[in-house]
Amino acid sequence: MTLTQTVAFSKNSTNLFFHILTTCNLKCRHCYINPAQHGKNTLPLPTIKAWLEAFANNSSSKNIIFLGGEPTLHPELAAAVTHARRLGFGSITIDTNGYLFGDILSRVTPAEVDYFSFSLDGATRQTNDRIRGNGSYDTCLEGIRRAIDRGFTTSLIYTISSDNIHELEMMAPLLDSLGVDRFFIQVIGLRGKSALAPDASESRKSPQVSRSQWLATVPGIARMIAERGIIVTFPKVFLNVAEKFECAGTVADNYFVFPNGRVYRCPLCEDFPIHSLCFQENQLVPTAKLNEQDFFQLDIPEGCVMNKMIQPHNISYNEEGLPEYKIACCLLKEEIRGG
Ligand code: SF4
Ligand code: SF4
Repeated sequence: MTLTQTVAFSKNSTNLFFHILTTCNLKCRHCYINPAQHGKNTLPLPTIKAWLEAFANNSSSKNIIFLGGEPTLHPELAAAVTHARRLGFGSITIDTNGYLFGDILSRVTPAEVDYFSFSLDGATRQTNDRIRGNGSYDTCLEGIRRAIDRGFTTSLIYTISSDNIHELEMMAPLLDSLGVDRFFIQVIGLRGKSALAPDASESRKSPQVSRSQWLATVPGIARMIAERGIIVTFPKVFLNVAEKFECAGTVADNYFVFPNGRVYRCPLCEDFPIHSLCFQENQLVPTAKLNEQDFFQLDIPEGCVMNKMIQPHNISYNEEGLPEYKIACCLLKEEIRGG
């Protein structure tokens, strides 16, 4: 038996997605980091502290996800975690590709870090390493085992693309054998490298999956994995025309912070200089119009405005020219608990 619920947007909970550097040891095929838009610098610890403090009084419930690049490449990650905890961030997550640099597992404790969240994009070494690079499968699995041995709670992120959707079902026994607590399914977006045209010389097909593929595969397998006692979260992606659409940019309190000082409210905007906030001398200030906030207000029958602008081909229309379904906010998630 499983319980499925849509995770409601809330203004009473702040979620901070903090990219403390953009450097990474891997070169994943779908990497969404775009140095031209996000910079190449590594934030010094005093700046990280000042920027964390800028969000400290946002709401009583504050969650932070440390990201990169690969955040464990940052020599001061442990100190940043300690500072976030001191400021009252209730849930602290470190997203990692599994390499766990800087002996991070012995420099933070399970009391300080709620989740180590590992990225794996294939149930087999062959598929994952084709997407994320040679050796990344074995290193990630080894990293998960080491984190669990040290008493950390772990989650795993699987970004669905046409390259790996066929292995989603095979993740169930792997997750079981590893002992991972949560499983996050993501959908590949047209950001960073994924936004580049398919490479004919590599006979690379588009990484995106169709609506029919998604609906035939993801919800059912997510339920099956949840029945094993793992909490599974996946993006809703598609809404029926009668379902209510909400833009997280207007009804939630999310911030996507990059080391060049840009602060976005929407991940789909991150490839463009339309961030609505930025850090100037460590103060968070609004940017000039036009910016992403102006797009959030637009009410269109297709749902998400940014989706319509950057990937309109994922919407289909009936004979009257009306969309047959809506595209949900990319931040709208379904969560399944069971077991
Ligand atoms: S691990 Fe993350 S940051 Fe590094 S290349 Fe892969 S997707 Fe990009
Ligand atoms: S993904 Fe679309 S709906 Fe969600 S915050 Fe961005 S613009 Fe709004």
